[in-house]
Amino acid sequence: MKILLVEDNSLESELIRAELFTQNAQILNIQVVKRLHEAVKLIENHSFDLILLDLSLPDSKGIDTLITMKKKSLNIPIIVLTANSDSDLAIEAVRNGAQDYWVKSDLHGKFLLKSIEYAIERQQIEEKLRLQLERDKLISTIIEKIRLSLDLSYILQTTVEEVRDFLSIDRVLIYRCENQERGEILAEAVNEDYNSFLDNNLHTMLVDNITDLDNIAFYLAKSIIVLPVWQYELNPEITNILSPQNQKNNPENNKKLWGQIIVQSYSKHRYWKQWERNFITQVGNHVSIAIQQSELYQKLQEANLELLKLACSDGLTGVSNRRHFDHTLQNEWNRMVRENQPMSLIMCDIDYFKAYNDTYGHLQGDLCLKEIAKAIESACQRASDFCARYGGEEFGVILANTNASGALIVAQQIQSQVASLNLPHRSSSVSHRVTLSLGVSTIFPFRDGNPSSLLQKADTALYRAKNTGRNQIIQSLE
Ligand code: GH3
Ligand code: MG
Ligand code: MG
Repeated sequence: MKILLVEDNSLESELIRAELFTQNAQILNIQVVKRLHEAVKLIENHSFDLILLDLSLPDSKGIDTLITMKKKSLNIPIIVLTANSDSDLAIEAVRNGAQDYWVKSDLHGKFLLKSIEYAIERQQIEEKLRLQLERDKLISTIIEKIRLSLDLSYILQTTVEEVRDFLSIDRVLIYRCENQERGEILAEAVNEDYNSFLDNNLHTMLVDNITDLDNIAFYLAKSIIVLPVWQYELNPEITNILSPQNQKNNPENNKKLWGQIIVQSYSKHRYWKQWERNFITQVGNHVSIAIQQSELYQKLQEANLELLKLACSDGLTGVSNRRHFDHTLQNEWNRMVRENQPMSLIMCDIDYFKAYNDTYGHLQGDLCLKEIAKAIESACQRASDFCARYGGEEFGVILANTNASGALIVAQQIQSQVASLNLPHRSSSVSHRVTLSLGVSTIFPFRDGNPSSLLQKADTALYRAKNTGRNQIIQSLE
């Protein structure tokens, strides 16, 4: 036991020494200083198991002596020694962190030794509890972060940073194993000395070809702990059904190595305590949960996206459906009101399509619809141009920020794209190819209005195109 005795009176310190040595000389190593500032300086660079502190020193008096000492040596138990038998001071000393209190005139070697042993033991227990509490707090912060965030890279990064700070360690990594040979570092936290350490050591190393800095950094570490991060099968029930012979609902059977948590000490050799291993293992378990959670979330997002696509697109042609059309028409109307810009609408209808079906069959009719949809879509060049299947063999094209002459150009483009498809239609009365009739309308959307007027006008124009010969574009006049 290394003991620091802070006592200005040489006679007293000799007495205390003598009292203690009569008990068990070989286990005690007592160092004596006479001033508080000397004691403070000493404990900055040396470790002690306990401090015996006289409260009345030349450079400090009373309870302040203890307070100053305690501040500088949070984890070293202090036993207060004084000539004063004032019991209030005794209570105050214990309140301020002293483990025990002795009036020097009452000192007895045997009891003082017991008191020292108990103080150290108590301090160790307190320290253990404090550490446990801190670990629990850190784990719950990590759990809370996992619960609140679905962003895996954020979770991994904060985790390595917290572990680095908590263990006061040089470098913490989360490494993802792709397979047995390859992997990548997904999150890394280093302390401020790490980079200069690496620089200094790389300069002194005779490395011809530094291709893999991480590998070299790995070998430079003085102490390393590597613990696995497991990934658990998302749906063990399904795997159980598929191969019931080797699984019995035990999640341990459904885990595979996802990666590793690597903790490295560069500045000094470090013995990893059991609680540190347990702690890192616990962190690893929570990282597994985060991985699983974010994987589930990703799958959910993909499914939602797919669902959204399904809900918005037409099953046969793949272009947007009527629902999406109505929605977009209203949105673009509102946007054009805000931007005070015109918008146009083109309604396209295949000519004599009933006859087409009757002649070539419904299946061929479907193929024809797909081709026409593609042709119309290819005529929609701008990002905001929007094409949808309006119903049956009718398509609608919404053109935001487009005036009448712009809309006419797009309509002509649609017609020429359809013409270049060159789809035979022997039952059509206007052509021997499949053709479209198009009705075009343009409007400056206005507040309190709605897109039905635009739709109405395009419809009327389309009706006229049908009635006045088909295979043509009719533009609605303002
Ligand atoms: P018009 O030139 O006046 O437009 O004559 P039309 O025959 O094209 O028009 P009508 O409205 O009489 O007929 C539309 C046809 O489109 C009837 C229907 O069988 C066909 N149709 C609608 N939806 C589909 C579809 O999904 N697949 C196929 N193959 N045909 C469809
Ligand atoms: Mg038609
Ligand atoms: Mg029709």
